Amino acid sequence: MNDKRINIVGCGITGCVLARAYAEKGCSVTVYDRREHIGGNLYDFTDEHGIRVHLYGPHIFHTNSDIVWNFVNEYGEWAPFSLVCGAVLDGVCVPTAFDFTTADTFFPKEKAEEIKKRLLVKYPNKKTATVLELLSCDDAVIREYAEFLYEKDYKPYTAKQWAVDPEKIDRSIFSRVPVRLGYKKAYFDDKYQAMPKDGYTHFIANLLAHQNISVVLKTNMTDKIRFINNKAVLHDGVEERIIYTGALDELFGYRFGRLPYRSLRFEWKYEDKDAFQDMPVVAYPQAEGFTRITEYKKLPVQQAQGTTYAVEYPLPCSAEDTENEPYYPVLTDDSKQAFEKYRALADSYDNLICCGRLADFKYYNIDQAIENALRQVRSE
Ligand SMILES: Cc1cc2nc3c(=O)[nH]c(=O)nc-3n(C[C@H](O)[C@H](O)[C@H](O)COP(=O)(O)OP(=O)(O)OC[C@H]3O[C@@H](n4cnc5c(N)ncnc54)[C@H](O)[C@@H]3O)c2cc1C
Repeated sequence: MNDKRINIVGCGITGCVLARAYAEKGCSVTVYDRREHIGGNLYDFTDEHGIRVHLYGPHIFHTNSDIVWNFVNEYGEWAPFSLVCGAVLDGVCVPTAFDFTTADTFFPKEKAEEIKKRLLVKYPNKKTATVLELLSCDDAVIREYAEFLYEKDYKPYTAKQWAVDPEKIDRSIFSRVPVRLGYKKAYFDDKYQAMPKDGYTHFIANLLAHQNISVVLKTNMTDKIRFINNKAVLHDGVEERIIYTGALDELFGYRFGRLPYRSLRFEWKYEDKDAFQDMPVVAYPQAEGFTRITEYKKLPVQQAQGTTYAVEYPLPCSAEDTENEPYYPVLTDDSKQAFEKYRALADSYDNLICCGRLADFKYYNIDQAIENALRQVRSE
């Protein structure tokens, strides 16, 4: 097999990090994507109002990894950016992750003081807790606070986002937005939190700018890859490596059924006013149909006339909804089992490597996707 020729399906962050790392090792790399742009879900561009927007939803870079941070800094300038999100509960916007402001806002003064005091006593060495931890706490006052958050936010938001009974969903979903045990207006706590100064698309273009890398867009590779004996074959008679960052069910013709995902529809709006909402990303758990709104001139702050924002509507993405983009894998026992069958099949082809958020059927943050890709190259 020609180990120096590498075909990568998918021009998202996973495919691009792999492309760069193999190119640096002297391999000749071709990256394919069916979309008409580079960057996968990180793709951003400047709209007709001069505001940089993210086509596939708001992306904020955050990591605790020095390796990942040093890596991204090789390919662009990054500006510190600490995201503050909000949630509108009963018509009032409070910062998320929920800090003590929430108790102050929604409970009478004495009760709020009691909640805060008991949280600090119960969890003296912790900065955050999950809502599930608080719901099962043996302190009734803490449980009452947790039930308020669960009923007003976590439960309706989760039901809308996942369209399944919150009781049946993977418990990790409830841990993504923690409850803060103090006052701190910040969504993430990572050591590095930043946005690329010239945008993600520019950063990705820098990653791909290497003489050993070529990029082929608007090309769906699913029909082009064939499976002969224990090899995945792209070009007849040529044995070469294929790295696939797309969905495995699609690659293998859905033979073990379709892996369930949730999708999103973005309704783009522009208004000729200075600001639409208090924070760049605000969740509306009690609103009909949509989950959150991102106002892009705040992500990071951009000087522009008017404001562009996107309203997010969760959608199904299953056999009947082939048009919808797969965004979030729906992790249930059944879907995990089906995925394992696809994974075992993929592993049976010597020259096929599968990685990335779709191929691994996992939610990855950007830094995790980068870390996995770098680990893949280092492991050889
Ligand atoms: C709404 C949303 C918001 C997010 N916000 C954040 C955030 O704030 N911070 C953060 O760290 N992470 C965030 N993420 C996660 C981030 O998007 C992922 O970490 C990242 O996209 C993973 O990159 P990837 O290359 O694995 O996948 P992708 O970006 O999806 O790239 C895969 C590429 O493969 C292509 N492809 C697939 N199949 C084929 C085929 N058969 N032929 C050709 N091309 C194919 C696709 O077109 C796509 O371009 C968010 C995710 C979502 C859904």
